Amino acid sequence: MKSIGIVKVWLVLLIASGIAACTVNPVTGNREISIISPSQAIAMGVQQYEPGQQSQGGVYKVDEDLNDYVASIGHKLAAVSDVPNLPYDFVVLNNGVPNAWALPGGKIAINRGLLTELEDEAQLAAVLGHEIVHAAANHGASQMSRSTLLNVGLLAGSVAAQDSQYGDLISMGSQVGAAAWMASYGRDDELESDEHGIRYMTAVGYDPQAAVELQETFVRLSEGRSSDFISGLFASHPPSQQRVDANRQHAAALPSGGIRNRDAYQRAIAQIVADQPAYDAQEKAVEALNNEDPDLALEYLDEAVRIQSDEGQFWELRGHAWQMKDDLNNAETAFGTAISKNPDYYQHWLARGLVRKEMGRDRLAQEDLERAEELLPTSSGAYALGELAESRGDTASAMSYFSSAASAGGAIGERASAKMVRYDLPTNPSKYIATGLGTDSAGRILLLVRNDSGIAVTGVTLRLVLASNGAYQDYNLSGNLAPNQQGSQATGIVADPSLYRAMVISARPL
Ligand SMILES: [Zn+2]
Repeated sequence: MKSIGIVKVWLVLLIASGIAACTVNPVTGNREISIISPSQAIAMGVQQYEPGQQSQGGVYKVDEDLNDYVASIGHKLAAVSDVPNLPYDFVVLNNGVPNAWALPGGKIAINRGLLTELEDEAQLAAVLGHEIVHAAANHGASQMSRSTLLNVGLLAGSVAAQDSQYGDLISMGSQVGAAAWMASYGRDDELESDEHGIRYMTAVGYDPQAAVELQETFVRLSEGRSSDFISGLFASHPPSQQRVDANRQHAAALPSGGIRNRDAYQRAIAQIVADQPAYDAQEKAVEALNNEDPDLALEYLDEAVRIQSDEGQFWELRGHAWQMKDDLNNAETAFGTAISKNPDYYQHWLARGLVRKEMGRDRLAQEDLERAEELLPTSSGAYALGELAESRGDTASAMSYFSSAASAGGAIGERASAKMVRYDLPTNPSKYIATGLGTDSAGRILLLVRNDSGIAVTGVTLRLVLASNGAYQDYNLSGNLAPNQQGSQATGIVADPSLYRAMVISARPL
């Protein structure tokens, strides 16, 4: 195949130039090409771990014992893995979408929405064992190497921020955020993770049959096309009958009848099971907010907090409902309650910062927004901080915030770009205003102009320069230019336009 040939040529060039390295995979023993070294991969995994958690709902706080339980199973499995000395960490994320992910370096997350789909500890061990292989075999890193070779681009430095406000709490699981590059493993990676994951769980003493059941469950659920599963777990770890069959084969070759620990598992997840009606009510509240019905949303949220008053997400949503009702005092209080329930989650701080800004409480807004940005940089946070800097006359900070908001794209990104243009236009008008030369019907030179700045501009001064000696004449363009508008300015000079140049020497935002 032609494309393979090209990839090979690239590999040879990259290895020759010392950018790529040939390494032995610690799990499979296979020789592999990778662009980044194992230590770089670990560093990247560590770097992406926090933003990865934040962008996926943050750590599940209501029952911290559940985190300890999952971590204890994870560490047992990691200890018998092929790479036991990675800085492993296991965390339960406050996210209802069934999903689990691993970053290089052994940073592994599982959503509470997946835990409620599992039956016993052996099935949990199957999930965690599978993720440990992804981390230990550096699947994310080789994925990254492939992407680089194909010039698809590397991972984003910060999580792309979201513009929508209310959908986030429920839908954020579907966007892969910081970990986009490890979003979908190849079929070979999946089979490899299944195979060695089963080996690890059996070494700890679990029944390998649980891994077969798990895949059967996933295939069944994917056939039902549950959208949560499609966007969550199945997007990153596609299930297939092939995987069920392969698991069955691996399990058959291993001792059966190991540990299941169904009771211990059911006890561990008892809180999230008991709270499920509250999370269901939350989902309905989000729907009501999306339909701009804050009163109905508050009814659902009353029910949610009656069942579980320690869930910060419920309180934050209450704040959004009050905000929609223009009751900013109640909104601020509700966001404050959310923060007190979970001070480690960026979104509660962001929400309160934005409402405080709306209330004109600039100093407090800034503190909240800075805290949110520390936890997870977002375009809405950066944009608001830019406006606050602007209003206290700190142009340099404002530019820097608008610049990071602009880099995220989206509606807020466009607004941030426009803000930056407003500052930059007077200093660098030629970056934003295109010029040219033409003639009118009488052969007189016309200065031509087009506004590429994206904002309305005024005070445009154009300069006609005689190329041979630099002599010039300035002309003030009458009127304003809307975005993309073209204009022309008569000069009255009858001459060959190719002897002249045109330039813009001043312009300012309207
Ligand atoms: Zn996988």
